[in-house]
Amino acid sequence: MGLKIYIDGTFYEKEQAKISVFDHGLLYGDGVFEGIRSYNSLIFKCREHIDRLYESAHTIKLKIPLTKEQMTRALVRTLQANKLANAYIRLVVTRGVGDLGLDPRKCPQATVIIIASQIVLYPERLYKEGLKIITVPTVRNLAEALNPQIKSLNYLNNVLAKIEAVHAGFEEAIMLNAQGYVAECTGDNIFIIKQGCLYTPPQSVGALRGITRDTVLGLAKKARIPAREAMLTRHEVFNSDEAFLTGTAAEVIPVVEVDSRGIGSGAIGPLTKRLMSAFRAATKTEGERYTV
Ligand code: PMP
Repeated sequence: MGLKIYIDGTFYEKEQAKISVFDHGLLYGDGVFEGIRSYNSLIFKCREHIDRLYESAHTIKLKIPLTKEQMTRALVRTLQANKLANAYIRLVVTRGVGDLGLDPRKCPQATVIIIASQIVLYPERLYKEGLKIITVPTVRNLAEALNPQIKSLNYLNNVLAKIEAVHAGFEEAIMLNAQGYVAECTGDNIFIIKQGCLYTPPQSVGALRGITRDTVLGLAKKARIPAREAMLTRHEVFNSDEAFLTGTAAEVIPVVEVDSRGIGSGAIGPLTKRLMSAFRAATKTEGERYTV
Protein backbone atom coordinates (compact mmCIF):
# COMPACT_ATOMS: atom_id res chain seq x y z
CA MET A 1 0.00 0.00 0.00
CA GLY A 2 1.44 3.33 -1.05
CA LEU A 3 1.48 6.71 0.61
CA LYS A 4 -1.83 8.53 1.00
CA ILE A 5 -1.39 12.21 0.40
CA TYR A 6 -3.89 14.81 1.52
CA ILE A 7 -4.78 17.52 -0.98
CA ASP A 8 -7.69 19.81 -0.10
CA GLY A 9 -9.53 17.21 1.95
CA THR A 10 -9.07 14.23 -0.36
CA PHE A 11 -6.46 11.46 -0.10
CA TYR A 12 -4.54 10.48 -3.21
CA GLU A 13 -1.99 7.76 -3.91
CA LYS A 14 1.50 9.20 -4.34
CA GLU A 15 1.42 8.86 -8.12
CA GLN A 16 -1.94 10.63 -8.32
CA ALA A 17 -1.08 13.39 -5.84
CA LYS A 18 -0.66 16.31 -8.24
CA ILE A 19 -1.34 20.01 -8.31
CA SER A 20 -1.85 22.45 -11.15
CA VAL A 21 1.10 23.98 -13.03
CA PHE A 22 -0.77 27.27 -12.48
CA ASP A 23 -0.47 26.96 -8.72
CA HIS A 24 1.46 29.99 -7.47
CA GLY A 25 3.26 27.77 -4.99
CA LEU A 26 5.05 26.36 -8.02
CA LEU A 27 5.18 29.48 -10.19
CA TYR A 28 6.35 31.89 -7.48
CA GLY A 29 7.14 29.96 -4.31
CA ASP A 30 4.06 31.76 -3.02
CA GLY A 31 3.00 29.73 -0.02
CA VAL A 32 4.03 28.58 3.43
CA PHE A 33 4.97 25.28 5.02
CA GLU A 34 5.85 23.41 8.17
CA GLY A 35 7.94 20.34 8.87
CA ILE A 36 6.53 18.43 11.84
CA ARG A 37 7.43 15.16 13.57
CA SER A 38 5.32 12.60 15.29
CA TYR A 39 6.82 10.24 17.84
CA ASN A 40 4.90 7.21 19.08
CA SER A 41 1.52 8.66 18.09
CA LEU A 42 2.28 12.09 19.49
CA ILE A 43 2.54 15.08 17.11
CA PHE A 44 5.43 16.89 18.78
CA LYS A 45 4.73 20.57 19.51
CA CYS A 46 1.72 20.41 17.20
CA ARG A 47 0.17 23.66 18.42
CA GLU A 48 3.45 25.56 18.00
CA HIS A 49 3.85 24.36 14.41
CA ILE A 50 0.24 25.15 13.52
CA ASP A 51 0.55 28.60 15.12
CA ARG A 52 3.74 29.33 13.16
CA LEU A 53 2.08 28.20 9.91
CA TYR A 54 -0.86 30.53 10.47
CA GLU A 55 1.45 33.41 11.40
CA SER A 56 3.48 32.91 8.22
CA ALA A 57 0.23 32.80 6.23
CA HIS A 58 -1.12 35.91 7.96
CA THR A 59 1.98 37.90 7.06
CA ILE A 60 1.75 36.98 3.39
CA LYS A 61 -2.02 37.57 3.46
CA LEU A 62 -2.77 33.97 2.60
CA LYS A 63 -6.14 32.77 3.83
CA ILE A 64 -5.93 29.16 4.96
CA PRO A 65 -9.32 27.58 4.24
CA LEU A 66 -9.29 25.55 7.49
CA THR A 67 -9.44 26.57 11.13
CA LYS A 68 -6.48 25.54 13.29
CA GLU A 69 -8.63 22.77 14.80
CA GLN A 70 -9.60 21.50 11.35
CA MET A 71 -5.93 21.62 10.29
CA THR A 72 -4.90 19.58 13.33
CA ARG A 73 -7.63 17.04 12.52
CA ALA A 74 -6.42 16.88 8.91
CA LEU A 75 -2.90 16.14 10.17
CA VAL A 76 -4.19 13.36 12.40
CA ARG A 77 -6.34 11.91 9.60
CA THR A 78 -3.31 11.85 7.29
CA LEU A 79 -1.22 10.02 9.88
CA GLN A 80 -4.04 7.54 10.44
CA ALA A 81 -4.63 6.99 6.72
CA ASN A 82 -0.95 6.07 6.45
CA LYS A 83 -0.89 4.10 9.74
CA LEU A 84 2.11 6.11 10.90
CA ALA A 85 2.92 6.37 14.60
CA ASN A 86 6.34 7.87 13.80
CA ALA A 87 6.50 10.26 10.91
CA TYR A 88 7.86 13.37 9.32
CA ILE A 89 4.94 15.49 8.21
CA ARG A 90 5.18 18.16 5.55
CA LEU A 91 2.32 20.60 5.71
CA VAL A 92 2.13 22.97 2.73
CA VAL A 93 -0.32 25.74 1.96
CA THR A 94 0.10 27.37 -1.42
CA ARG A 95 -1.56 30.47 -2.83
CA GLY A 96 -3.46 28.13 -5.13
CA VAL A 97 -4.29 28.24 -8.81
CA GLY A 98 -4.08 31.60 -10.58
CA ASP A 99 -2.91 32.92 -13.92
CA LEU A 100 0.66 33.46 -15.08
CA GLY A 101 0.93 36.86 -13.45
CA LEU A 102 2.07 37.07 -9.86
CA ASP A 103 -1.03 38.87 -8.58
CA PRO A 104 -2.34 36.77 -5.69
CA ARG A 105 -5.84 38.23 -6.16
CA LYS A 106 -6.12 35.87 -9.14
CA CYS A 107 -5.85 32.88 -6.80
CA PRO A 108 -9.25 32.50 -5.12
CA GLN A 109 -8.50 29.36 -3.12
CA ALA A 110 -5.38 28.24 -1.26
CA THR A 111 -4.21 24.64 -1.74
CA VAL A 112 -3.58 22.55 1.40
CA ILE A 113 -1.22 19.59 1.08
CA ILE A 114 -0.21 17.16 3.83
CA ILE A 115 2.44 14.53 3.23
CA ALA A 116 3.21 12.15 6.08
CA SER A 117 6.17 9.91 5.48
CA GLN A 118 9.10 8.21 7.14
CA ILE A 119 11.77 10.50 8.44
CA VAL A 120 15.15 10.57 6.72
CA LEU A 121 17.58 11.40 9.48
CA TYR A 122 21.26 12.08 9.53
CA PRO A 123 23.01 8.72 9.99
CA GLU A 124 23.03 7.60 13.66
CA ARG A 125 26.85 7.68 13.56
CA LEU A 126 26.81 11.50 13.32
CA TYR A 127 24.83 11.80 16.56
CA LYS A 128 27.70 9.91 18.24
CA GLU A 129 30.65 11.46 16.41
CA GLY A 130 29.27 14.91 15.63
CA LEU A 131 28.91 16.87 12.39
CA LYS A 132 31.62 18.77 10.56
CA ILE A 133 30.24 21.88 8.92
CA ILE A 134 31.47 24.93 7.03
CA THR A 135 30.49 28.55 6.48
CA VAL A 136 29.25 29.27 2.97
CA PRO A 137 29.37 32.50 0.91
CA THR A 138 25.61 32.83 0.39
CA VAL A 139 24.39 35.37 2.94
CA ARG A 140 21.13 34.73 4.79
CA ASN A 141 18.19 36.70 3.42
CA LEU A 142 17.83 40.17 4.85
CA ALA A 143 14.94 40.19 7.30
CA GLU A 144 13.98 43.57 5.80
CA ALA A 145 13.62 41.94 2.38
CA LEU A 146 12.22 38.49 3.14
CA ASN A 147 11.86 37.83 6.83
CA PRO A 148 13.09 34.32 7.68
CA GLN A 149 10.21 34.07 10.21
CA ILE A 150 7.95 33.59 7.18
CA LYS A 151 8.46 29.91 6.53
CA SER A 152 7.72 30.36 2.87
CA LEU A 153 8.02 27.99 -0.07
CA ASN A 154 10.72 30.32 -1.36
CA TYR A 155 13.74 28.49 0.07
CA LEU A 156 16.21 29.32 -2.68
CA ASN A 157 18.42 31.26 -0.25
CA ASN A 158 18.85 28.07 1.78
CA VAL A 159 19.07 25.85 -1.29
CA LEU A 160 21.98 27.96 -2.61
CA ALA A 161 23.79 27.58 0.71
CA LYS A 162 23.11 23.84 0.68
CA ILE A 163 24.53 23.56 -2.84
CA GLU A 164 27.71 25.28 -1.65
CA ALA A 165 27.96 22.98 1.36
CA VAL A 166 27.45 19.84 -0.71
CA HIS A 167 29.90 21.07 -3.35
CA ALA A 168 32.52 21.40 -0.62
CA GLY A 169 31.70 17.92 0.71
CA PHE A 170 29.64 18.89 3.77
CA GLU A 171 26.06 18.13 4.75
CA GLU A 172 25.20 21.35 6.55
CA ALA A 173 26.52 24.91 6.53
CA ILE A 174 26.50 28.06 8.60
CA MET A 175 24.95 31.07 6.90
CA LEU A 176 26.09 34.51 8.02
CA ASN A 177 23.94 37.59 7.77
CA ALA A 178 24.88 40.66 5.74
CA GLN A 179 26.87 42.04 8.71
CA GLY A 180 28.87 38.86 9.04
CA TYR A 181 27.16 37.54 12.17
CA VAL A 182 26.22 33.89 12.41
CA ALA A 183 22.53 33.53 11.51
CA GLU A 184 21.73 29.83 11.29
CA CYS A 185 22.28 26.79 9.12
CA THR A 186 20.43 25.91 5.91
CA GLY A 187 17.71 23.99 7.76
CA ASP A 188 18.73 24.15 11.41
CA ASN A 189 19.43 26.65 14.17
CA ILE A 190 22.85 26.79 15.82
CA PHE A 191 23.90 26.86 19.47
CA ILE A 192 27.31 27.15 21.09
CA ILE A 193 28.33 26.54 24.67
CA LYS A 194 31.07 28.51 26.38
CA GLN A 195 31.98 28.15 30.03
CA GLY A 196 28.75 26.41 30.86
CA CYS A 197 26.49 28.95 29.14
CA LEU A 198 24.39 28.32 26.02
CA TYR A 199 24.32 30.95 23.26
CA THR A 200 22.19 31.10 20.14
CA PRO A 201 21.70 33.96 17.67
CA PRO A 202 18.59 36.10 18.13
CA GLN A 203 15.82 36.25 15.54
CA SER A 204 17.01 39.75 14.61
CA VAL A 205 20.15 38.41 12.86
CA GLY A 206 17.92 36.66 10.34
CA ALA A 207 17.45 33.25 11.92
CA LEU A 208 14.17 31.36 11.93
CA ARG A 209 12.79 31.06 15.44
CA GLY A 210 12.95 27.29 15.39
CA ILE A 211 10.56 25.27 17.49
CA THR A 212 13.36 22.85 18.39
CA ARG A 213 15.49 25.87 19.34
CA ASP A 214 12.73 27.13 21.65
CA THR A 215 12.32 23.64 23.09
CA VAL A 216 16.06 23.43 23.85
CA LEU A 217 16.03 26.90 25.46
CA GLY A 218 13.14 25.70 27.67
CA LEU A 219 14.95 22.49 28.56
CA ALA A 220 18.11 24.42 29.46
CA LYS A 221 16.08 26.64 31.76
CA LYS A 222 14.53 23.62 33.47
CA ALA A 223 17.99 22.09 33.92
CA ARG A 224 19.31 25.42 35.25
CA ILE A 225 21.81 25.69 32.42
CA PRO A 226 22.25 29.40 31.69
CA ALA A 227 21.18 30.27 28.16
CA ARG A 228 20.94 33.50 26.25
CA GLU A 229 20.55 34.91 22.77
CA ALA A 230 23.70 36.60 21.51
CA MET A 231 25.23 37.96 18.34
CA LEU A 232 27.91 35.45 17.40
CA THR A 233 30.84 35.76 15.05
CA ARG A 234 32.72 32.81 13.57
CA HIS A 235 35.48 33.53 16.10
CA GLU A 236 33.11 32.74 18.97
CA VAL A 237 31.92 29.60 17.24
CA PHE A 238 35.49 28.42 16.57
CA ASN A 239 36.40 28.98 20.22
CA SER A 240 33.33 27.47 21.81
CA ASP A 241 33.53 24.49 24.14
CA GLU A 242 30.62 22.71 22.47
CA ALA A 243 28.27 23.35 19.58
CA PHE A 244 25.13 21.74 18.21
CA LEU A 245 22.36 22.29 15.69
CA THR A 246 18.63 22.01 16.27
CA GLY A 247 15.76 21.32 13.90
CA THR A 248 12.63 19.26 13.60
CA ALA A 249 14.27 16.72 11.30
CA ALA A 250 17.77 16.77 12.85
CA GLU A 251 16.57 17.12 16.48
CA VAL A 252 19.72 18.02 18.46
CA ILE A 253 22.90 17.11 16.59
CA PRO A 254 26.41 17.83 17.87
CA VAL A 255 28.95 19.80 15.84
CA VAL A 256 32.63 18.97 16.33
CA GLU A 257 34.26 20.99 13.56
CA VAL A 258 33.55 24.32 11.82
CA ASP A 259 35.63 25.52 8.85
CA SER A 260 38.31 22.97 9.80
CA ARG A 261 38.59 24.33 13.36
CA GLY A 262 37.93 21.69 16.00
CA ILE A 263 35.27 22.62 18.58
CA GLY A 264 36.23 21.97 22.21
CA SER A 265 37.81 18.59 22.74
CA GLY A 266 36.55 17.31 19.40
CA ALA A 267 34.25 14.87 21.20
CA ILE A 268 30.60 15.49 22.06
CA GLY A 269 30.49 17.68 25.16
CA PRO A 270 28.65 16.92 28.41
CA LEU A 271 26.02 19.68 28.13
CA THR A 272 25.23 18.72 24.54
CA LYS A 273 24.75 15.12 25.70
CA ARG A 274 22.43 16.22 28.48
CA LEU A 275 20.35 18.35 26.16
CA MET A 276 20.17 15.60 23.54
CA SER A 277 18.69 13.19 26.06
CA ALA A 278 16.41 15.85 27.57
CA PHE A 279 15.13 16.55 24.06
CA ARG A 280 14.47 12.86 23.36
CA ALA A 281 12.52 12.70 26.63
CA ALA A 282 10.47 15.79 25.68
CA THR A 283 9.37 14.15 22.42
CA LYS A 284 7.55 11.54 24.52
CA THR A 285 5.39 14.02 26.37
CA GLU A 286 4.67 17.28 24.55
CA GLY A 287 2.18 17.33 21.72
CA GLU A 288 -1.07 16.14 20.21
CA ARG A 289 -1.93 12.49 20.81
CA TYR A 290 -3.66 10.32 18.24
CA THR A 291 -4.30 6.63 17.60
CA VAL A 292 -3.30 4.66 14.52
N1 PMP B 1 16.18 27.27 10.28
C1 PMP B 1 15.69 26.98 9.07
C2 PMP B 1 16.09 27.82 7.92
C3 PMP B 1 14.81 25.91 8.91
O1 PMP B 1 14.31 25.63 7.70
C4 PMP B 1 14.47 25.12 10.03
C5 PMP B 1 13.60 23.91 9.87
N2 PMP B 1 12.25 24.23 9.83
C6 PMP B 1 15.01 25.46 11.28
C7 PMP B 1 15.86 26.55 11.37
C8 PMP B 1 14.65 24.70 12.51
O2 PMP B 1 13.33 24.98 12.88
P1 PMP B 1 12.42 23.94 13.65
O3 PMP B 1 13.15 23.58 14.91
O4 PMP B 1 11.17 24.67 13.92
O5 PMP B 1 12.26 22.76 12.77
